[in-house]
Amino acid sequence: LVDRMRPFTSTIFAEMSALAVAHDAINLGQGFPDTDGPASMLAAAVDAINGGDNQYPPGIGVPSLRHAVAEHERDFYGFDLAPDTQVLVTVGATEAISGALLGLVEPGREVVMIEPYYDSYAACVALAGGVRRTVPLVPDGDGFVLDRDALADAFGPNTAAVLVNSPHNPTGTVLSDDDLAEIARLTVEHDVVAITDEVYEHLLFDGREQHPLALLPGMTERTLRISSAAKTFSCTGWKVGWITGPAELVAAARAAKQFLSYVGSGPFQPAVAHALRTEMGWAAQNAAELQRKRTVLAEALASVGFEVHRSEAGYFVCADPRPLGYADGDQFCRELPARVGVAAVPVSAFVDDKESWRHLVRFAFCKRDDVIADAAARLRRL
Ligand code: PMP
Ligand code: GLN
Repeated sequence: LVDRMRPFTSTIFAEMSALAVAHDAINLGQGFPDTDGPASMLAAAVDAINGGDNQYPPGIGVPSLRHAVAEHERDFYGFDLAPDTQVLVTVGATEAISGALLGLVEPGREVVMIEPYYDSYAACVALAGGVRRTVPLVPDGDGFVLDRDALADAFGPNTAAVLVNSPHNPTGTVLSDDDLAEIARLTVEHDVVAITDEVYEHLLFDGREQHPLALLPGMTERTLRISSAAKTFSCTGWKVGWITGPAELVAAARAAKQFLSYVGSGPFQPAVAHALRTEMGWAAQNAAELQRKRTVLAEALASVGFEVHRSEAGYFVCADPRPLGYADGDQFCRELPARVGVAAVPVSAFVDDKESWRHLVRFAFCKRDDVIADAAARLRRL
């Protein structure tokens, strides 16, 4: 194994899901829903398969999906995109991230990212031969904000790109407009590219709204925006994602993408196109359900004795088990499946500064109500 990939031989999701299986635990570790997306989307995929849509689709994605993504970008945010050059369908957001980084980051150049960071960011920057520069989130009440001094320090002459994830995994933070404006200011000042991972764009709670970084002054022409059907339509196994942005940046990601997977899976693409056009009401309803589940799990964790952080969006809530006498989140998560039959993920898996984040644990609430209730009952045995 090459040196640059040595830190990345396993993922925390695979490790914790294996532990969950081994101990027959409820898996609140890996973030995936345990119910299906909209029925008409599932039917559209079956129709596509039965209709013979089973050979290589175009590398950039089927026309119906590229058009549906462009319409989505216009309807929700006012972007005006050419479906043939400014939309690229990818194998999930995961390939969008790797394609964008491999296409845009020269070896030795730096990528600024928020810490904690989604695990694939570090691995993909390493694949590209780049160097990560992390900017920590810092507690602000029961939520998190960016460390502004660290943000300014992270940008420099060697910066190639900033990779921004909001809503944020693992904390469930939606970056404030002020934090986004500061990122935009620095990105323009240093004349670099932004890559935004907005896979949870339709899963915001308590009346919050998604504000894409690409809409800020000077940003549309330098931002690649990434999203995925996985979260919007609860189909994480379909692996249908996309990148949108200026044609030359999309082309850079496309150059890498065509040698990562060549093309994405065929029959799921028209089904996702159908869902983007007709099932955004389902997505809004799903977000309301997730908000309710968030509250149920957060209250259960608090009643057990965890110190619970505010989750503003997405699938996850972070909690601190120190009041329960556990100082190390990693150890806590490795013991939890055997101890009470629940799996969670340590936030330390998403950071370089292990010490500062050692205590925090992430729980997924994208589960059926009975599953959350069962997990809550089990956690009361702690
Ligand atoms: N980015 C973030 C922040 C995520 O949470 C996830 C999935 N959990 C991904 C990217 C990957 O998305 P996909 O499953 O579409 O590859
Ligand atoms: N994104 C999901 C999570 O954060 C899992 C994705 C994966 O298993 N790589 O839990």
